[in-house]
Amino acid sequence: MSKNEHSGFTTSILHADRRKAVEHGAIHKPLHTSTEYAFADSRELAAVFQGKSGYTYARQGTPTTAALEDKITLMEGGAGTVTFATGMAALSSIFMTLLKQGDHLVSSQFVFGNTNSLLGTLDRLGVSVTFVDPANAQQVKDAIRPETKMIFTETIANPGTQIADLSAIGDICELHNLVYVIDNTLTSPWLFQGKSVKASLVMNSLSKYICGHGNALGGAVTNTGLYDWSGYDNIYDNYKTGPANAWGLTQIKKKGLRDMGATLSSDAAHRIAVGAETLALRMKQSCSNALALARFLEKHPGIASVRYPGLSQHPQHERAATLFNHRFGGLLGVELVDGIDCFEFLNKLNVVVLATHLGDARTLALPVAHTIYYEMGPARRAEMGIGDNLLRVSVGIEDEEDLINDFRQALAQCMDAA
Ligand SMILES: *Cc1c(COP(=O)(O)O)cnc(C)c1O
Repeated sequence: MSKNEHSGFTTSILHADRRKAVEHGAIHKPLHTSTEYAFADSRELAAVFQGKSGYTYARQGTPTTAALEDKITLMEGGAGTVTFATGMAALSSIFMTLLKQGDHLVSSQFVFGNTNSLLGTLDRLGVSVTFVDPANAQQVKDAIRPETKMIFTETIANPGTQIADLSAIGDICELHNLVYVIDNTLTSPWLFQGKSVKASLVMNSLSKYICGHGNALGGAVTNTGLYDWSGYDNIYDNYKTGPANAWGLTQIKKKGLRDMGATLSSDAAHRIAVGAETLALRMKQSCSNALALARFLEKHPGIASVRYPGLSQHPQHERAATLFNHRFGGLLGVELVDGIDCFEFLNKLNVVVLATHLGDARTLALPVAHTIYYEMGPARRAEMGIGDNLLRVSVGIEDEEDLINDFRQALAQCMDAA
């Protein structure tokens, strides 16, 4: 059994609300829809404005978003969390509030498409970005300059499934005193905690595995507490209060929620919190389904290649096994052989849903070059090894045989036709 199964992960999330006396013994924190929060004493109102913990206006959070933040902090083993309207809002809040003109960022070259676009915006605002292969720590090291402030990577890349050298990058960041930001969306805190590799900040798109049911958008930034912000020169004087290992998150919250308004609604927070209760169960099933499907597909004559870190020939298989406790996530890159048309194949699937998105309870598939990587154009796709017949499959929690049989019947029909 992996360490995750004994860590109290699910128990702590299930009972998190009850630990803070909820009215009438309710087992869920109430869904607070109030925009403004009233005070009996005006001095108290002023005190909250001046930094005392409490609620004033829902753009800066509600008791419902705070309850979700507590759960995510527990899952990540962190020191604090701020939630956002979406994963992209969480990422833009990190980059826009902690970097300024003249700074340099080293980023993985295999990032989520919209993150890639966001980094392009940063570049225009005067923050230069160098893209490196994060599976190769030497490339990360070589990209560091005197103006480098931050290193950013995802855990498992989408859809190539490359695994960043997360531990080695953590050592590099520590040595050079750089802020280390990890996008943990593809792994979720059940498979991986950024804290274990000395990350400073961990971002999760809550829309994916943590919510898990395709019914709410959200994002979160968790402070691991490991970075000392007292030497980071982009922190405003106002936010240099309390322990220096929390200043970065304070600034992200003030600027990201209060100034930029990228706030998560209480309604979405409630749905995400309910979804999160079964994160461990769902991840376990997704990972085991994905491995079974990858093993079935790699041997099938209709399949040219399968990219999945759980297969022993995956270039970072050993690294993934070590980092993620011998589970390998729910995402597959599947390349059909040349004779099969990817649209014809996809149209023959019955169980698998043709949709973008990932980390859902249902299995979802799409043709990569024609959708999420379309805007990039053929030259950049070729550079990234994205062929026209590559599918991305986000494996859900259906019964294993039903998934394998669905792929088997669709492949059989395409091969009969070919
Ligand atoms: C989906 C995703 C995001 C963005 O999250 P949203 O909640 O959709 O805004 C960021 N990073 C990764 C790796 C993702 O898969």
